[in-house]
Amino acid sequence: MALLVQKFGGTSVGSVDRIENVADKVCKFRDEGHDLVIVVSAMSGETNRLTGLAKEVMEHPTPREMDVLLSTGEQVTIALLTMALHKRGYDARSYLGTQVRILTDDSHTKARILDIDNQRIHEDLKAGCIVVVAGFQGVDEHGNITTLGRGGSDTTGVALAAALQADECQIYTDVDGVYTTDPRIVDSARRLESITFEEMLEMASLGSKVLQIRAVEFAGKYNVPLRVLSTFEDGPGTLIRIEEDENMEAPVVSGIAFNRDEAKLTVTGVPDIPGVASKILKPISDANIEVDMIVQNVGEDNLTDFTFTVHRNEFKKAYAILERLAQELSAQTVKGDDKIAKVSIVGVGMRSHAGVASKMFEALSQEGINIQMISTSEIKISVVIDEKYLELAVRSLHSAFELQKEAVE
Ligand code: ASP
Ligand code: MG
Repeated sequence: MALLVQKFGGTSVGSVDRIENVADKVCKFRDEGHDLVIVVSAMSGETNRLTGLAKEVMEHPTPREMDVLLSTGEQVTIALLTMALHKRGYDARSYLGTQVRILTDDSHTKARILDIDNQRIHEDLKAGCIVVVAGFQGVDEHGNITTLGRGGSDTTGVALAAALQADECQIYTDVDGVYTTDPRIVDSARRLESITFEEMLEMASLGSKVLQIRAVEFAGKYNVPLRVLSTFEDGPGTLIRIEEDENMEAPVVSGIAFNRDEAKLTVTGVPDIPGVASKILKPISDANIEVDMIVQNVGEDNLTDFTFTVHRNEFKKAYAILERLAQELSAQTVKGDDKIAKVSIVGVGMRSHAGVASKMFEALSQEGINIQMISTSEIKISVVIDEKYLELAVRSLHSAFELQKEAVE
């Protein structure tokens, strides 16, 4: 008998039928004797619909009122799910973030959870009640409603699991786990039995959108066992866990992530003297543009080429800044390319294996794919390539590292 926190996302509760399906699932777990805290998102599309209504009224509503509005989506689903549980003869109660209470800071629309008062939940659980909590919302110390940022219900689930010291936090969604790569690109992509928090963080920040990044960070920090599973099919899903002891042979590469949202900018022929990098990047960061990869090479005559990548949405803005800056830096040219993609291999096993990078580069060269930039971390190697070769690159890396094969357990 375990204490489980189960979070159901927007598609899982997207209609009354689907809410009934979730209720059936929850009852089955209850029948097995588990204590259950259920976290739900708003019905799919609802948060966007509410945002649209706000925009009809005014272009820039205050964040405080946005939170009052957006938090209503989850109030609907907790009530409907709880009714569906009652209909099945189960004891259940729903709670808003402010009732539980989930205390956050006061950064409206992107609040952070500070504390959870779990006394009420514990009492209900002890009385045999299923507790249903609204995801994505909390309350600040002055009683103002806050929300946690888009996709924030994952974080609610993990935070509750941490506060209650639950045995597992289960995230139910419309995919049945975390895959070696996007199955829409590689047919032989395989569901992973498990992946480490660190790997999951890399996969998530590189564009694999199964879980909100903050939720993974939170779970890693508090060591909450996290599992991603499908609402619609039975199966073990993927367990996200801390790194295992050394006797277990970790796969060298666990997954391949990619990101099409990047663009590349280069300033050529700038003097290779102290302060140049900061002169280039300072106005970029002042404009609130996030920089991802950075490469600098020394060219001839003490001149250097400086290249970096930004989100594709920021490309034009960054380009304009560099053009203004070029004269001041006595740079030769500013070049840009927004038709690039980043492909990364991720795996904790890389730490203890040599030759991973060269194997990656060889696989790409066999397909005639040119690598424009490279960056590495302890558990990741990323390359920037021409966007048109993205799918080919992902497929060739997936087979070069034999990810289609079941890992030996
Ligand atoms: N309803 C919120 C959103 O759509 C929170 C969530 O679904 O996790 O972003
Ligand atoms: Mg969601």
